[in-house]
Amino acid sequence: MWAFIVLGILGGLLGLGLAFAAEYLKIEADPRIGGVKERLPGYDCGACSYPGCSAFAEAIVEGDVDHLKECKPGKDTHYDAILEYLKDNPNRDGSLIQVKK
Ligand code: SF4
Repeated sequence: MWAFIVLGILGGLLGLGLAFAAEYLKIEADPRIGGVKERLPGYDCGACSYPGCSAFAEAIVEGDVDHLKECKPGKDTHYDAILEYLKDNPNRDGSLIQVKK
């Protein structure tokens, strides 16, 4: 009987600890990374020299990519959509991410 009570209390305390950690230790990702990733082909092939589309999208948003054509399977429709999206979602200071087709 005591084992159930002790385990129940421990479970509750660990649950509270996880809830606290989830709320206060979370890392906010730039929402534009997801917006750019949605507009990439999504093959996760690595032809861009990044480990996948998410990493390439993150590099674009961080300004580490000069040309979107580094995504080899991409088409003009992908590149145009990304450029349009980035134009509509500038940096916090209003500057645009510098990337070309
Ligand atoms: S080359 Fe394009 S499709 Fe392939 S992983 Fe990179 S971003 Fe994704």
